[in-house]
Formats: sequence, structure tokens, C-alpha cells
Amino acid sequence: MKKTKHDQTPRDNLPVSVRKPELPPRPQSLPSSPPRLSPRPLEPTDVPPPPASVQPESTLAPGPNRERDLYQIVAQVGEGTFGQVYKARNTQSGKYVALKRIRMESERDGFPVTAMREIKLLQSLRHENVINLHEMMVSKGNVYMVFEYMDHDLTGILSQNNFHFTEGHLKSLCHQMLAGIAYLHQKAVIHRDMKGSNILINNQGILKIADFGLARFYQKRRRTDYTNRVITLWYRPPELLLGATVYGPEVDMWSVGCIMLELFTKKPIFQGNDEIHQLETIYKLMGTPSVEEWVGFSDLPWYELVKPPEKIKNRFRSAFQKYLSPTALDLAQKLLEYDPAKRITASDALDTSFFKVEPAAVLPVDLANLEGEWHEYESKMERERKKRIPQDMEVS
Ligand code: AMP
Repeated sequence: MKKTKHDQTPRDNLPVSVRKPELPPRPQSLPSSPPRLSPRPLEPTDVPPPPASVQPESTLAPGPNRERDLYQIVAQVGEGTFGQVYKARNTQSGKYVALKRIRMESERDGFPVTAMREIKLLQSLRHENVINLHEMMVSKGNVYMVFEYMDHDLTGILSQNNFHFTEGHLKSLCHQMLAGIAYLHQKAVIHRDMKGSNILINNQGILKIADFGLARFYQKRRRTDYTNRVITLWYRPPELLLGATVYGPEVDMWSVGCIMLELFTKKPIFQGNDEIHQLETIYKLMGTPSVEEWVGFSDLPWYELVKPPEKIKNRFRSAFQKYLSPTALDLAQKLLEYDPAKRITASDALDTSFFKVEPAAVLPVDLANLEGEWHEYESKMERERKKRIPQDMEVS
């Protein structure tokens, strides 16, 4: 099982061969957001102050001559694995963009290979439900990816108790997410980091899949070995948690199932602290898989290490029937199928009865009435601000 050179990312630090997973000690309490895949989460003090404006020395795409201060930074809206994301205003057109700064400081070998991979991938994609990379820009030694601006991300919106999606809205969001992922899979791209904060939504109710930092092209005809250290823990499918390195687009479909349920319940459904606890959390809800229902389960590299100690019954439908209609439950269950070979594909999911029965899908245009713009970053900042304010002051 040899790993290809193309499969190496900075987070790709586990040998592909069968090896005991090195698991961190289990924290006492649940983290408030999924553990990041980066080696060390950034502290606020690590972050350099945002530039007030971005004056391009050059753009890496053909375009008109630029003047100085082409983009005026409005606010920071995100903290990606490779750098900060800012909302900025184009001073010529008045339009807003998102500038994703590529962190070069820790790079000894020039331009980060992972960022290069993300750019190449994004340049080959064009779909209404996939984020559009306008251009690349260099300013004062910094390299920026210039994206269309999206007002919110799903994690940010779901943190807002004063906003409620109707069933028609939720159907539209599920449909748009599946249409985006169906397009990616048809283009032979696996995203490998589908989660709420990578699902962007604008005030017109349009959903777009973002963050292609871990995405890669896959071989459609031949199954190949890839790293299994991908996908944020809470959205990671059981086969990767059990050490599988030969996989395909089905890994994204599990994450889509988790996001679909999160949309309806407003919270992530499988909140594990480490790989073993993640599997236990899945077993508690979905039951323990049997070798009859998941052929190849017991052949997975880490099966002996993490096999279920006792048999647990599936309680998926009883746990979620108060949140989802029967056709929505059917679809979610097909997305969370243990056996990757039986897991529903994105194009088949678009064809299920959930999208054919009433109520019809409705774009959540009411988002325009929501006060503020909500990304994971702002909701985290708000949580921290609330923690700092003594409770008695907040009440008064
Ligand atoms: P990323 O590094 O792509 O994962 O981005 C980190 C965060 O920045 C995301 O979770 C979003 O909240 C935010 N973000 C990324 N791209 C955009 C965009 N085009 N518009 C608005 N916010 C974005």
C-alpha cells in the first residue's frame, strides 16, 4: 500500500500502513467546536492585525490595470487552516469580496503546496453551489485568494437562536448542498472536509461549498490509497475512523448526512473527543454495525483496536423523528449508511422522495433580515465576549 506523492499534505502525518492510531488523551468535557485539523489551533495573539487595505502589486489573473488600495478590509470573518479570511470592499466596483490570505511565514520552500493544490482545483470548478475564486492577488509579499463574498456560514447561522429555517428552507439548503457535492463528484473531486463552517450561504439564500484545502482529484475507475487523516472529527465517516485508506466520494456523503441532521436539529450530532470516542458516539445512535450489514467491516486496519465491545441497537429514527419528516429521515439514513458501498450517492440523493413531496423547497431569502453576518468566526467571538461579561451585568 504505497502512498503517492500527490497525497501528502501537512496534516498527512500518519503512515498508511496498519498502525495503532496515536490518540490524544480524552478531555474531561466536550469542546464547543470540532477539533481543528491544524497542528495547533491559532490563539488570538498569533494573528497579525488585519491590514486596513490591500494594494495589489499584481493579480495573478488577467484583468484591468489596478489602482492602489483596490480592496478595503472591512472585517475579519474567518480563520482558515492556511490563513485569515477578510471581508473587503472593492473600491472601484463597491462590491464585497472575501480575501483569504495565504500564510507564507512558516513556509521554507516558497509557496505552500497545499494552497497551490486548492487554487488549481478551484480554477477547474464552476457551479452555482461551489464557491467561485475570482482571482489571485499579491500585495506586500502576501498572497491572497479573492473569492465572491458570502454573508454567513452554516455554523454561524445555526448559532443564532433568533433565526429559524422553515422546512421548505431546509429542503432547499439540502438540495443545494447535494447539487454542489454531486457536481464535485462528477468532476472526480472529493472534498474531504465537509462541515458547517465550510458551507457558505448568502442573503439571497444561495449555498456554496467552500474550503478546498483538503480536496483532491480521485481515480474514478481505480480505487487508490489516500490518507485517512482527513475530515474534521465530528463529520468523519466510520471507515476512516477504522483506518481505511482506500476510499472514494462516499466519505463526503457521510459528512453531508451529519450536516443535514445538524440543519434540522441545530447542533452537530456526533460530538466525539477523539477517534475512539467518535466511533462510540456513532454506535450509540446508529447501533453497532454487523459484518452482514457492512461487508469488510472486520477487515479494516484498526478493527481489532476499536471494535465495539457490546452490541448496541440502532435508535436513529426514534431519536430524530421529532425533527425530520419520514422522507427526510429516509434520506438521512441512506447518507449515514455504515457500508460505504451502500451509502447513497449525491446524484441518487437528489432523486429521493424528500425532494418530491410537499412542502416544496424555498430559498431562505429571509436571511437578509437577520441582524449581522454570521460565520463560525463571529459566533466564536460572540461566545467569548459573553463569557468575559459577568453574568449579573448581562442580565441588567
Ligand atoms: P477556509 O479557510 O476556506 O476554511 O475559511 C475559513 C472561514 O472563513 C470559513 O469557515 C468561512 O466562515 C469564512 N469564509 C471563507 N470563504 C468565505 C467567503 N467566500 N465569504 C465569506 N466568508 C468566507
